[in-house]
Amino acid sequence: MDVFGLIGNPVGHSLSPAMHEAAYEKLDMDARYVTFSPEPSALERALDGAGALGIVGLNVTVPFKETVCEYLETDDLAGRIGAVNTVDVGAGTGHNTDAAGIVRALREHDVALDGTAVVVGAGGAGRAATFALADQGMTVRVANRTVARAERLVTAGPAASAHGLDEAPGLLDAADLLVNATSVGMEEDATPVPTDALHADLAVLDAVYRPLETSLLRAANRVGATTVDGGWMLLYQGVEAFELWTGRAAPVATMNDALRTRV
Ligand code: NAP
Repeated sequence: MDVFGLIGNPVGHSLSPAMHEAAYEKLDMDARYVTFSPEPSALERALDGAGALGIVGLNVTVPFKETVCEYLETDDLAGRIGAVNTVDVGAGTGHNTDAAGIVRALREHDVALDGTAVVVGAGGAGRAATFALADQGMTVRVANRTVARAERLVTAGPAASAHGLDEAPGLLDAADLLVNATSVGMEEDATPVPTDALHADLAVLDAVYRPLETSLLRAANRVGATTVDGGWMLLYQGVEAFELWTGRAAPVATMNDALRTRV
């Protein structure tokens, strides 16, 4: 049996086990996906142990996405982002499929990846979005509550500019895409930018997936913008991880159904 898993803390409400195990069942694979919450001080030993036990692949979530880089050979993109969410345990390599997840989620909704993107948030999701969209050739403006964090992100190399969150409405005037990469809207009725800054020529991707329909996406729908919920990003980061670990095409529709029935 092939074992895959997720390390992080907390992991109890993760949708990844259901999404990946639905794929194993669909493809008749003898495989399981389990969750682990090692103490932060035990991360290196946990990775060594995973290798010794023959665990094939691990996803990584909060609070380990950055620290895990110390113990792995990161690929170019994960190295630039400074965060890993997918580990090929046997190879000892770290990858970032959040970035590809964002690109595939947008492509799935026919969002053109050119023009100007405003990314609000400069944490893990904001960094992945910024590098992903800049690599696609978009002009990226990063607006974050803590400006210094946006500035640090931009200093790490993507073709992007750093701003305070208060500048976001002005930046959105001329933007084609808004990505919410803050946690604002998660289990609350709030938006990261004033809703009157949204317009019909925007596409809006919300990384928040609990709930799937956030206040931001509701407001974006009202003005006629194209909307992409956080479930699509979650789906495609999982699809990318599955394909990286197994070398097989992921059963995308099956994984999507499993995810959406459990959010
Ligand atoms: P993180 O590293 O902790 O970053 C959080 C970000 O949110 C920071 O930019 C922070 O700004 C900002 N923020 C938090 N509270 C705020 C507030 N009240 N007003 C304005 N900004 C605020 O978290 P993360 O890992 O990037 O995750 C961010 C969101 O993306 C979460 O909702 C997470 O669930 C989601 N996510 C989704 C996926 C997916 O596959 N759909 C993948 C990864 C993450 P400061 O820097 O000023 O603190």
